[in-house]
Amino acid sequence: MSERLVGIQVGASSFMDEGVGTVLDTVQERAAVNALFLATPTWNTATGGRPEPGRPFPDHGTPEHEADWRGGNYATVHPEYYANTILGAAGRAPEYPAWDMLGSVIPEAKRRGMKSYALMDESSHARHLRGYPNFLKCLEVDIWNKPARRPCFNNPDYRNWHLGMIEDYIKSYELDGILWSSERPSPLDRLMQEPTRQGLGLITCYCSHCREIGEERGISWRRAQEGYRKLVLWNADVAAGKIPSDGAFATFWRLLFTYPELLSWQSIWVDGQHQMYRDIFGTVRAFRPEMKVGWNMPQNMSFSPFYRAANNYADLSHIADFIKISTYNNAGGPRFHSWIAGISRTVFGDADPKTVYPLILKILGLDEASYADLPKNGLSADYVRRETKRALVGGEGRCVIYTGIDVDIPAGQPDKSDIAPPVLGDAAMIDADDTSGPELAKTTPERVKAAVRAAFDGGAAGVVLGRKYSEMKLANLSGVRGALAELG
Ligand SMILES: [Zn+2]
Repeated sequence: MSERLVGIQVGASSFMDEGVGTVLDTVQERAAVNALFLATPTWNTATGGRPEPGRPFPDHGTPEHEADWRGGNYATVHPEYYANTILGAAGRAPEYPAWDMLGSVIPEAKRRGMKSYALMDESSHARHLRGYPNFLKCLEVDIWNKPARRPCFNNPDYRNWHLGMIEDYIKSYELDGILWSSERPSPLDRLMQEPTRQGLGLITCYCSHCREIGEERGISWRRAQEGYRKLVLWNADVAAGKIPSDGAFATFWRLLFTYPELLSWQSIWVDGQHQMYRDIFGTVRAFRPEMKVGWNMPQNMSFSPFYRAANNYADLSHIADFIKISTYNNAGGPRFHSWIAGISRTVFGDADPKTVYPLILKILGLDEASYADLPKNGLSADYVRRETKRALVGGEGRCVIYTGIDVDIPAGQPDKSDIAPPVLGDAAMIDADDTSGPELAKTTPERVKAAVRAAFDGGAAGVVLGRKYSEMKLANLSGVRGALAELG
């Protein structure tokens, strides 16, 4: 059997606060880490920076929040790779401006026999992205024909900007691989699984590029838009408890009958994301065929049969060397609890969460704690095993699975006393967690150990510790070594 990959997601702040050598020593000693997933670019506090305001500090790093953290590209930006995009060579992170994370860490990792991957976080929700010159010309267009907040996957300037970064990374650095992450909730998923607010500009996209694709496929964007406007009203009514006399589910299905364009337009949106994957995969293969390319799957894959249906491992395995699944067993409890609550106020608004939950578990092939106990119990190690196995079988042997292991991922709403409320629509809004209180599931060395064992029992080729080293307690990292010792 080839060596098991033990990866860890780590950002620039950790190296700057603690020193490259210290971080590498620590993760090697504590968790037998042999692969670094270096978070660049990232504009997302889930992968970059120190613990977020309102979240606790672990027992290492600098215990001060970075209120004005912006993120971006922590490598050197080589302008020659950004010629065919109006965004140009934008993106260098303002933190540690003279420091190149890839240039500094990769050689040091190589000396120790560790692999280096770039964890490229699209961070589409991040407000600071919109500050780059011309970024506002790349935005999606919403159902009211006004620019929305996220960039459009079908916008050539936006695509080419990311492909420029890919070319820059693979030509400038001796990386072993790329993990590209795009955690976006799609328009139809949002309307089906949670109460939304129509003014947020998240039900998209009707930009000229998307309309053109619709035209090629013979789908009327006007009909799609009309359908989505009605679906937004349906969503608002059901969420407010105004269930139509025929029921929430039947009236949802009726809208699909009346506007089949709802599904067709959703397909255009999903295909835009997947085309980005294809472009990245092909670009890397063309120049560095030995380099590994993989996709990060948000935890929504575990919660939503609808999201699952649109993200087929069999299809994705043709354009991936590995798929990293976000099987976070601690944070997953509160997150799944919130997801069930959301869908019980939308497409399953005819029932209550306690009734919806057991059915969804069956549909997903999971067996977990009672609904009431989910936030405090979290998800089980068996969940990690089942999801790993499902991904592996789904990929039909064409790609390997790296299982995401939860080490101190914050659960519940942050302590609001020391943070400003987020601007609606500027949060990631996938894998959301609306729970709160001191009783929520917590990481322990034993739970890390059980999750790592379960991942390998499920057939994983590796594990990736997430979300970021800067929030992980050292004792919990040691759980990885415990599992590896048992596995032999
Ligand atoms: Zn568009």
